[in-house]
Amino acid sequence: MRLDRFVCKHTEHSHQTARRLVASGRASVNGQTIRDPHYPVSHFCTVMLDNRLLQQQQAVYLMLNKPPGYLSATRDPEHPTVLELLPEALRPQLHIAGRLDRATTGLLLLTNDGHWSRRITAPEEKIPKVYRVTTAEPISLEAEACFAQGIWLAREGVRTSAAQLERLGARQCCLTIYEGRHHQVKRMFAAIGNEVTALHRERMGTLLLDKSLRPGEYRALTDAEMTGFQ
Ligand code: URA
Repeated sequence: MRLDRFVCKHTEHSHQTARRLVASGRASVNGQTIRDPHYPVSHFCTVMLDNRLLQQQQAVYLMLNKPPGYLSATRDPEHPTVLELLPEALRPQLHIAGRLDRATTGLLLLTNDGHWSRRITAPEEKIPKVYRVTTAEPISLEAEACFAQGIWLAREGVRTSAAQLERLGARQCCLTIYEGRHHQVKRMFAAIGNEVTALHRERMGTLLLDKSLRPGEYRALTDAEMTGFQ
């Protein structure tokens, strides 16, 4: 939103007065005097008019080591949710950037920044997600080629992007996928006649699950992780 509209919306001033107040140097954004009424104000700017605080909200970016049994939801009558693993004061503002199934473990990102979460979860951004997968049956010889060609997902009417499979053992592999469709990894293995028995997310884009986090623990992303994220 433009700064003059923002001042108008958050004070008793008319749009015309707000514009004049901004132009005369009475408003600041993140500690800097801004005279341009068109200056863009985001959800996470600190905005002041004279000594009056109009908005102050910090962006929050967390990584959580999701334990099994927790739902990627904000509220559920039956099962515990991942939000319950976080301090109560933080919960109302946070949402999940890229859900995991209840039994799936590993890297889960939570934030109050909708722009960021939309970007990292949008299929067209093709952010790689890396999973350690354990299967019921030995992984077939054709698996690499099938996943590289893409698997047809009938429900959505789309083919998955070329995925990379790296074998770790007869029934274990690392799989890199580029979308985050509902039960995607399980459906890809089902399509080649196998079943996923354990699933753990290790990486999203350049963000690696911090190995020092035990299941259920979380920490804030560092500045380096945020600026390097792609
Ligand atoms: N694919 C799945 O099938 N489940 C998950 O939790 C994540 C990816």
